[in-house]
Amino acid sequence: MLERLFNEVDPRIADLLEGALSGRELSPEDAVCLLEAEGSNLHALLLAGDVARREDNGDDVSFVVCRNLNFTNVCYVGCSFCGFARHKDDDAEAYDHPMEVLISKCEQAIARGATEVCIQGGIHPQKDHTHYHEILTTLKAAFPDLHIHAFSPEEIDFGQKKSGMPLGEYLGWLQEAGLGTIPGTAAEILDDEIREILSPKKLKTARWIEIVRAAHAVGLRSSSTLMYGHIEKPIHIARHLGILRDIQKETGGFTEFVPLGFIHERNMLYHLLGSRPGPSPHEDLRIIAVARLFLRPWIQNIQVSWVKMGPKLGQMGLCSGANDFGGTLMEESISRESGSEHGENTPPEEFRRLIREIQRVPVERSTLYATLRRFDDPAEDPPSLEDAKPLRTAGPRRVRARIEAARTAG
Ligand code: SF4
Repeated sequence: MLERLFNEVDPRIADLLEGALSGRELSPEDAVCLLEAEGSNLHALLLAGDVARREDNGDDVSFVVCRNLNFTNVCYVGCSFCGFARHKDDDAEAYDHPMEVLISKCEQAIARGATEVCIQGGIHPQKDHTHYHEILTTLKAAFPDLHIHAFSPEEIDFGQKKSGMPLGEYLGWLQEAGLGTIPGTAAEILDDEIREILSPKKLKTARWIEIVRAAHAVGLRSSSTLMYGHIEKPIHIARHLGILRDIQKETGGFTEFVPLGFIHERNMLYHLLGSRPGPSPHEDLRIIAVARLFLRPWIQNIQVSWVKMGPKLGQMGLCSGANDFGGTLMEESISRESGSEHGENTPPEEFRRLIREIQRVPVERSTLYATLRRFDDPAEDPPSLEDAKPLRTAGPRRVRARIEAARTAG
């Protein structure tokens, strides 16, 4: 019976899967072939992704307790897939949070167990490098133990040009101010023909690579991402994975790979430029499995995005090659404002429940994938911190005092 099932798998696919499982490196052409797998071929691919995951990571599923912090949504870069950006003068929803608000949000996050804050914002034309630096010095002085994961390569590009410093020096300057790691966002698809349609004013492929390599060179590790399900073809995804693998072979600086499905509801890319309406569930799972097989052993951690996929498809992703559930986030606006309906907050207790539902072991990790706590026994789970009082109720005087203390210390 089982033999009948396996006989339905195309011999070329079977050979690629066997090769990947025995340590043979897949080429971008091989990846294209796997990215087109359907039917029995797709099922075999997902199974191979899961087998490789078990060999590489065991049965632990990690997550990080973190808060997203978008300090401004003012941006004029005009990416066609973005539903988050606002123009300063013509939109009542535009915001630019003062330091008091950022401090309050961090306090609230720490009260709910956060070890990391992920800070990104729009490219505000009236800001410069000093603003990024001030965010870091202020928050680090107030919360020395909080890991700051901040500033996309697009923001690094903007700040470095404003600063006039050489790239490595600029990154070192941010690192000294408290930057811990950077998100490998703004990658979308690392192919300039596709980028020209997605975001003609955004940094090009070579510059993204230059910034990420320079960050890794000064000791700032980063995540790596891909945005798929719009106008790209399998060859673009395969080449993108090839670029990430090449960088990783050279620097070892990527902590994880995070495939991000395009959310189409509220942006120009779908409504005006005729893209696909995001990925199908098959596509989501196929990319996770291909990423696992293609990137091993170089990038060990493959993350599912519950914001993009939702919890149930996320669980499927964890059974197709992924080993990480991402972050609690607490506050998420970039996907929500493009139309995602999967919420803004997944508390640790919900991660633990979802992970145990698929017979795996929940593990809280740091940004750099150190194990902070394993949850082998549900009876020993800590109580929920969801009711922790938001510390933003702290009066302005207390907040001002913290800022003053931070400035003095910085
Ligand atoms: S994706 Fe980022 S850079 Fe592009 S428009 Fe949105 S906020 Fe601006």
